[in-house]
Amino acid sequence: MTETILFDRIAFIGIGLIGSSLARVIRRDGLAGHIVACARSEATLKTVMDLGLADSVTNDPAEAVDGADLVVLGTPIGAYEAIAKAIGPVLKKGAIVTDVGSVKRMAIDAVKPHLPPDVSLVPGHPVAGTENSGPESGFDTLFVNRWVILTPTPDTSADAVEKVAELWRRAGSNIEIMDAGHHDQVLAITSHVPHLIAYTIVGTVTDLEDVLKSEVIKFAASGFRDFTRIAASDPIMWRDIFLSNRDAVLEMLGRLTEDISALQRAIRDGDGAYMEDKFTRTRAIRRGVVDAGQHIPPKPPGTPKP
Ligand code: NAP
Repeated sequence: MTETILFDRIAFIGIGLIGSSLARVIRRDGLAGHIVACARSEATLKTVMDLGLADSVTNDPAEAVDGADLVVLGTPIGAYEAIAKAIGPVLKKGAIVTDVGSVKRMAIDAVKPHLPPDVSLVPGHPVAGTENSGPESGFDTLFVNRWVILTPTPDTSADAVEKVAELWRRAGSNIEIMDAGHHDQVLAITSHVPHLIAYTIVGTVTDLEDVLKSEVIKFAASGFRDFTRIAASDPIMWRDIFLSNRDAVLEMLGRLTEDISALQRAIRDGDGAYMEDKFTRTRAIRRGVVDAGQHIPPKPPGTPKP
């Protein structure tokens, strides 16, 4: 191994927006001796080879992980259990399995029971993304200055965690180690519920009568536009996120519903002071996000200005 290589052989099971962005970093910096990519469709595998993202491709997860030192699961979470069952018996001794899924408790429950004891599971979640899908939508700067949350289980080796953390640091990410359940609560309110709201608002528009609908689209820049971007996110991936993080999402949704009711009452009662106080506090949150440098959405190089 040369000094830059972190893993001799890396297998990506699922190589869409997130997997391919990480593969681009690995390619760019020569961090792996060999990359093998696995996906179900021939079209995905052809795109991966055309883009030079992998040295070899296969649609068989067990074949993909043969001899791999690091396995990266980059599919929707609903596919994890079947994949773990397929790869468990053939994983290399001492291999590390990691993932990029947006929900961590369920990811661990789906994968861990099927891994042999000499394989380390390092669950991970890069808090970065766009509304686009597939290997063609990835880019190597997606993770720069973004958090990657790792949620090791009590028996995950510190050495394996450090190896995965180092890979993400090479992608430009900052690392946070967190309990899986805590991760799921935090992401329920910062990501999952906001997506649910966007899907709901944009869904409401589809039920409006045609004249009103065309006006909404025409004047989208007044706020609706940002919701349409979020609501364009992959339906399968988001179905799996809500199915996998049910309890935390329902808990946060309950709180949100109470807050909406309070605002509804304030509007009905003409309680301007309540609204002013509420909106002043939310403005401070926005300032915190800007100060932390997390306000600029990631854009692939060459994206035209809106
Ligand atoms: P994506 O662009 O839709 O890519 C999914 C990949 O998985 C594709 O290569 C797909 O190819 C493959 N795939 C799907 N089912 C499979 C299966 N059963 N076996 C093997 N390959 C399979 O998805 P993504 O946006 O990269 O998201 C992947 C994961 O990252 C999800 O778990 C998501 O929660 C997480 N995540 C996403 C974001 C985001 O903003 N998008 C951010 C952070 C984390 P085929 O269809 O050809 O099989």
